[in-house]
Amino acid sequence: MLKRILIKASGEMLGGTGGYGLDQDSLLTLAKYLKQAHDTGVQLGIVIGAGNIMRGTSAQYLTRTKADSAGMLGTAINAIVLQDILQQEFQLDCIVLGAFSIDGMFQQSSPQLLDTYFTQKKVVIFAGGTGAPYFSTDTAGVLKALEINADLMIKVTKVDGVYDKDPHQFPDAKKYDFISYQEVLAKKLNVMDFTATSLAMENNLPIRVVNLSGDNLVSIINKKSIGTLVSSCE
Ligand code: UDP
Repeated sequence: MLKRILIKASGEMLGGTGGYGLDQDSLLTLAKYLKQAHDTGVQLGIVIGAGNIMRGTSAQYLTRTKADSAGMLGTAINAIVLQDILQQEFQLDCIVLGAFSIDGMFQQSSPQLLDTYFTQKKVVIFAGGTGAPYFSTDTAGVLKALEINADLMIKVTKVDGVYDKDPHQFPDAKKYDFISYQEVLAKKLNVMDFTATSLAMENNLPIRVVNLSGDNLVSIINKKSIGTLVSSCE
C-alpha cells in the first residue's frame, strides 16, 4: 500500500453546470472520494485548483499577474470550503496550509508544520498554488508532492486517463495505460502543462491520471493500475 500521496483536483470538480462556481453536490462527491482514500490509512495531501473561479490565462481583460493573484485567491476559497465539507460532513481532521498566510484563516506552509500535521494524521489541503503568477496548480501539485515526499501524485480529472486525442471529440481516441514524461512533452498531450510535467520528470515523481468513480482512489492506493501512469519507466 502507498504511504503518502498528493491528490490534485481541478477547481472545475467543485463547480456546478459548466464547472463554474461552487456546487454542493460536486463538493460532497469529491469529499466522499477523499474520505474513502483517507480511510485506507494513507497520508493525504490535497492541492486544489481554481478553474471554477478564475484562470489567469482566460481573463485577458485583466493584467496577467493580477488575474493570477485572483486565481491563487480562488484556490484559497476552494481550500477552505473543501476543508469545511470534509470536517463537517465526513469528520475528517484536516488543515489548510497556504503558499501565503491569510490571518485568521490559514498559516503559510513550512516543512516543520507539514511534519507536525502529518504526524498528527491530519489531511493537509494546500492553498495558493505555488504563490507565484504564471504557474498552474498542476505545478503546485508536483511541487507539494515533492515537498511532502509523496509516493505518487494522483491527478483527478473528468476523463479516466490520458488519451492520444480528445475522447469526447474523437470516438477512436486511444487511452494510454502508461506514458512517459518525454512522450507527454513531445506529443504536447493535454495532461498537465509543460512546467508541471518537466518538474515531475526531473524529480522522477510518478503521476496517475484518473477520474473519480467506483473505488479508483482506493485501488490506486493499493497499487492497482487504474487510469494512466505518467512516469519515466513502466
Ligand atoms: N495560479 C497562479 N500560480 C499558481 C497556481 C495558480 O497564478 O501557482 C493561478 C492561475 O491564474 C491559474 C489559477 O490560479 O489559472 C487557477 O489555477 P489552475 O488553472 O491551475 O486551476 P485548475 O485548472 O486546476 O482548476
